[in-house]
Amino acid sequence: MATIKPRHPADLGLGGLEALAEFVAPTAPITVAVLPRRLDNLGFVSMSDRVASNDVEADYRARCEEIAAELRQRPYIDEVTVACTETHTCSHCGLRWEELTADEAADDSTNQDEHSVEGEPVCCCEAIDAFRTERGIPALQRDGAA
Ligand SMILES: [Zn+2]
Repeated sequence: MATIKPRHPADLGLGGLEALAEFVAPTAPITVAVLPRRLDNLGFVSMSDRVASNDVEADYRARCEEIAAELRQRPYIDEVTVACTETHTCSHCGLRWEELTADEAADDSTNQDEHSVEGEPVCCCEAIDAFRTERGIPALQRDGAA
């Protein structure tokens, strides 16, 4: 979370006003949430966080601290704090919650079947069933299951 104290119009993206305006006076603190890029974002190849890192949580925190350190150097940033939301785990199997991306859902090697959509959980059949029931998507056909 970064609290911005803009000094000049350009700090807020209001460039081009330099001739007319010299100062910006926010009426209240402006706080923005800066979210890290996914760890697997190497620009050219995509893999799951688990493959990209042995300690996903620590690596995300390190990346957030890196972002915070960068932001603290900006003159118009007043305050920066790093806040980590709790890791989401599946209520059915207890594994870390992961979802299919749009690409994975469209890819036969990573999706469950042709009904898989972006956001579908990947950890267990119970989670997939719940997800699909909620959205009216045809249930996963399992081997031997009716
Ligand atoms: Zn699960």
